[in-house]
Amino acid sequence: MLSYWEKKHFVDHDLIVIGGGIVGLSTSIQYKIRFPQAKVLVLERGIFPSGASSKNAGFACFGSLTEILDDLNHMSESEVVELVTKRYKGLLSIRCFFGDENLGYLHSYGLELLTDKETYALKFLDKINQLLAPVFSEEIFEQVEDIRPFGFSDKVKAVIRNKFEGELDSGKFLNSLWEKCQDLNIKILTGSVVLNIDMEGKKVFVQNPTGKNEICFQADKIAVCTNAFTNLLLPGLDIQPGRGLVLVTKPISKTVPLFGTFHYDKGYVYFRKVEDRILLGGGRNIDFEGERSLSMEVNPKIREYLIHILKEIILPDTKVELDLEWAGIMAFGKNKKPIVEMVGKNVGIAVRLGGMGVAIGWQTAEELVNMLAEV
Ligand SMILES: Cc1cc2nc3c(=O)[nH]c(=O)nc-3n(C[C@H](O)[C@H](O)[C@H](O)COP(=O)(O)OP(=O)(O)OC[C@H]3O[C@@H](n4cnc5c(N)ncnc54)[C@H](O)[C@@H]3O)c2cc1C
Repeated sequence: MLSYWEKKHFVDHDLIVIGGGIVGLSTSIQYKIRFPQAKVLVLERGIFPSGASSKNAGFACFGSLTEILDDLNHMSESEVVELVTKRYKGLLSIRCFFGDENLGYLHSYGLELLTDKETYALKFLDKINQLLAPVFSEEIFEQVEDIRPFGFSDKVKAVIRNKFEGELDSGKFLNSLWEKCQDLNIKILTGSVVLNIDMEGKKVFVQNPTGKNEICFQADKIAVCTNAFTNLLLPGLDIQPGRGLVLVTKPISKTVPLFGTFHYDKGYVYFRKVEDRILLGGGRNIDFEGERSLSMEVNPKIREYLIHILKEIILPDTKVELDLEWAGIMAFGKNKKPIVEMVGKNVGIAVRLGGMGVAIGWQTAEELVNMLAEV
């Protein structure tokens, strides 16, 4: 039962955003900037955002050479250029809005390791540079001349550098989003699991940990930003969960000459230095089926694969010990585009961000806000 005060002040809003990850928080901020008088509420089921946004690797990237070549097998050239442009512009837009300092952004370059299996990609380097020339001020990919200073195993035959990529601190990014929400007077309720949406009645039912009945919130408009978890609320969408594993080593005493964000195995594996540790993640391709899960467990097969790569390929001459490991859940579909659409007269969704939400989350939110503004 709600009190008079709760009913009067807590439950009615102009916009309710479900999901407090990058997309949900970005949606609430951009809506509130556009409609400063609007009462905006974000409902997040976790104590922190609990999907992908606080679990990711912080790569500010938009596609390695082999990944782009792979995309060209499934998409037209113009679609690939559109995708890369969207990601690149997305990165520029968050850097411009929040500032590099507040994102912990470092323009450290992206680097891709090629083994025998992938050296075919070198033949396409010029072609891809030409394809992307209209988007970038100079050639995007170049082969690193001397790869010996990296100290990789001799299985690594070549390294490709991307001058337009960088890395950020995912915690700083989320904190900046949170702080902006606070500045704008956006209410965020964490620990609020949304059980149900009544589209017609514009109601959102939230689990009540202290009472028998669910709490019913109401809003003129509802934005669903629950990414991989969306089918639990709105079944039937083309969304497959894709779990991702991340490992972080203990501090490494020896200086490791790894500056930049590194991609390996066609982008399925990635690593970077975080202070004096190595953060390493990915490996979903080792067990696609097993990783189609919403449960945040560590897959031992993938863990083993990543440790093998760390010790045998990346740092063959350095003693490393693991310190932390965690899993996060991404959302994939038949194509790489997020789903941004109205699913009811007043209910819009911005979901299925794939492995690029850092780059495209803010813009995806902007698209949803444009749709909600039309209602
Ligand atoms: C391991 C890993 C590494 C990654 N690395 C990178 C990277 O380096 N670079 C990059 O660009 N991208 C990366 N990504 C992808 C990126 O993190 C995501 O694309 C992005 O965070 C998606 O943001 P989102 O807000 O759409 O989803 P999420 O962050 O998943 O947010 C959805 C939120 O909705 C909440 N929610 C779900 N259901 C409910 C409900 N019923 N009620 C209330 N709340 C609910 C969840 O708790 C969650 O917080 C990575 C992802 C993972 C998992």
